[in-house]
Amino acid sequence: MNTSIQIGKVMGIPVRLHITFLLIIPWVAYIFASVSDTYFGWPYGFGGVQPSMTRWAYSLAFAVLLFVCVALHELGHSYVARAYGIVIRSITLYLFGGVSSMEEIPRNPKLELQMAFAGPGTSGALAIVFLFLYYQSAAILGIENPFTILMSTLWIVNLTLMVFNLLPAFPMDGGRVLRAWLATRMPYVAATNRAASVGKMFAIVMGIFGLFSGGILLLVIAFFVYIGASEEERATTINICLEGIRVRNIMSDDVHTVPPSMSLRELTDLVFREKHRGYPVVDGEKLLGVVTTADIQRVAESLRQTTTVGDVMAKKIFDIGPDEEATAAMKKLTELGVRRLPVIENGRLVGILSREDLVRAMELCSGR
Ligand SMILES: [Zn+2]
Repeated sequence: MNTSIQIGKVMGIPVRLHITFLLIIPWVAYIFASVSDTYFGWPYGFGGVQPSMTRWAYSLAFAVLLFVCVALHELGHSYVARAYGIVIRSITLYLFGGVSSMEEIPRNPKLELQMAFAGPGTSGALAIVFLFLYYQSAAILGIENPFTILMSTLWIVNLTLMVFNLLPAFPMDGGRVLRAWLATRMPYVAATNRAASVGKMFAIVMGIFGLFSGGILLLVIAFFVYIGASEEERATTINICLEGIRVRNIMSDDVHTVPPSMSLRELTDLVFREKHRGYPVVDGEKLLGVVTTADIQRVAESLRQTTTVGDVMAKKIFDIGPDEEATAAMKKLTELGVRRLPVIENGRLVGILSREDLVRAMELCSGR
């Protein structure tokens, strides 16, 4: 399901909005239209702005600008990543911030440290800009002017974005900073585990605090932080474990193949019997293509007796070598959007690697 929409490109990177973000914009506008308070003397919220048309216009403008600030924070990360030659596929903005989809980040603490700091750094710079604009506006338009309040509110939220993201807890940037720093003095997995437990501890403290103060939002954030920390820990452990594993170790070498002359009716029977969803098509030892149940479904029932596997198979074959790493196989499967890859050695089909094989290997990894 496509749950995000592309809203534009910045630095050549597609920026997408997740549907949850579309819900949060009116919600943020509503919250900030209802409050009017000060934070260490800086005004925030448009609750006191009259008439109500102006109040809502400013609240909505603020919500949209807040989203722009979150996007800029994320672009800050991307900018540093790109400077190191990492390809960024897209940026998606979710309810609780942005997520960049990029190539695997090389395990380089220096790069990770710079990348992690770039986001909060951008938020910090934005905070300073809005603080400056606030003082200018207060001097020219007055402290009660809604534009002055808008600048002040933006300064406060950008400052909060910076501080919140520097908390040393995954999935916040501070968690990455902590891991990168720890990784300079211990193995990567140990550093990840240590950083993840700090993150979980933070989440628990936040959760308890939220529970006793009745702060629902804090509870929700604590929950996300806890999940984020556990996910990061698991992903890193699995990736490192998979690194030592070759395709040969996890592929199925008991390959069932079909000849191109087989009819689709016969293939359907075979699929029912063996419960495989796809077969390599071979002529002798030569791989000609791959046929899957989806290829059968494209042909009308009445024509399946006379149509052969050779007529419908996918001839563009993506394969993989038996000595390639399992992580490379996982990347290939994901990028190509296929469920299985024929394993070819010296032009011969020696096995087949499916997503299920990888999942099994990952389960063994995480069980360690
Ligand atoms: Zn960030």
